[in-house]
Amino acid sequence: MICDNLSVNEKNHLTLAGVDTVEMAKKYGTPLMLLDEGKIREKCTVYRTAMQKYFTPDSMPLYASKALSFKYIYKIAASENIGIDCVSAGEIYTAHKAGFPLERAYFHGNSKTDDEIRFAISHGVGHFVCDSVEEVAAVNEIAGELSAKQKILLRITPGIDPHTHKKISTGSVDSKFGVAIETNQAYELVKGTLALPNIELTGFHCHIGSQIFEYDPFCDAARIMIKFIADIKTMYGYEASTLNLGGGMAVRYTEDDPEIDYEANIKGISEIVHSLCGEFGVKMPQILMEPGRSIVADAGMTLYTAGYLKEITGLKNYISIDGGMTDNPRFTLYQSPYTVLLANRMNEPCDYKCTVAGRCCESGDIIQEDVMMPKPARHDTIAVLTTGAYNYAMASHYNKVPKPAVVMIKDGEDFTVIKRETYESMISNEL
Ligand SMILES: *Cc1c(COP(=O)(O)O)cnc(C)c1O
Repeated sequence: MICDNLSVNEKNHLTLAGVDTVEMAKKYGTPLMLLDEGKIREKCTVYRTAMQKYFTPDSMPLYASKALSFKYIYKIAASENIGIDCVSAGEIYTAHKAGFPLERAYFHGNSKTDDEIRFAISHGVGHFVCDSVEEVAAVNEIAGELSAKQKILLRITPGIDPHTHKKISTGSVDSKFGVAIETNQAYELVKGTLALPNIELTGFHCHIGSQIFEYDPFCDAARIMIKFIADIKTMYGYEASTLNLGGGMAVRYTEDDPEIDYEANIKGISEIVHSLCGEFGVKMPQILMEPGRSIVADAGMTLYTAGYLKEITGLKNYISIDGGMTDNPRFTLYQSPYTVLLANRMNEPCDYKCTVAGRCCESGDIIQEDVMMPKPARHDTIAVLTTGAYNYAMASHYNKVPKPAVVMIKDGEDFTVIKRETYESMISNEL
């Protein structure tokens, strides 16, 4: 199967990390998100050890927590000795409540409010990743009010198109993120930043996009960024000590996706980075990377209960489920591919074509189109694989559907990490 944490047991039920998914659906109800803690920790370890070994001993992955943000996952990140990337005061607050050491947090985002800046500085967030000239000025001003000196990285747009979906590609010159080298505005930004009293510039950041399978786009980005570091050194006598290469390494959603060797990718990027530093005459910086999807996606799975089968003669078959775009909007947004299995009938031939349709009042509420599976029936358990990233994190209350429960599997044990919402909790802010 697409990930080594999946298998089939003697009852012909799909298992995740050795646990019977059909039993989980019965025990906790559906829709249900399952997470495999061992897989999350394994990915953290691969990134951390490879980055320390191949870049520098202080190099480190930052878990891009927008992929899936809740208290328990920040505890995992804390105990795995990695950093985090946060994009709102809400994420910082959640990490803080989980006891995450915020000096290892990097505060991202292109539209940080004054309140968020104040919140982050006063809670001791280690770094801001500043996205514009005006933001740097705002951080400088608020840091001054709080008698703080705030460390920052500057987000630079390297001008790279990594060949992924347009909505998840962020490195091109006209992106809403970062400041471009191509227009010379990045040089101006550095010059201005270096003059600010309440800011300590530690280096630069770039992020080229998401779901990138090859590692050469990262090498292209590294070349542009290291040349930028060298140019800045020549122009202003300032040498960056940190280079953050962003996130974006892919995960396998279907059998058609190639297998990905994360350690080999990191090693490949490091070889280029070391040689570029030599070529451009700058010291090897601390390297940060920001994996989100590749830390959590294949640790996750969503279970649904099948509703009704609708066969439109000669055209199309639909099986409805008890969730949809409210817990996984990614097909609706980007036509994202997923592997869908009939978890309770894993021994039967996949000889029936049907589209898995969500329950919302939108024709676009589809989880996956034209899936081959055994002909589904009411109350079957439908598993959608690789849903750990950008599913629960993007969940909504559209059609007033409560958000599902999230259950962690660890060493064969299962326990709730996010309770299923109730109708009551859903309306708790309504007066
Ligand atoms: C979204 C994002 C990431 C994580 O991307 P993945 O594709 O999930 O690894 C990292 N850094 C920044 C700045 C991002 O916007």
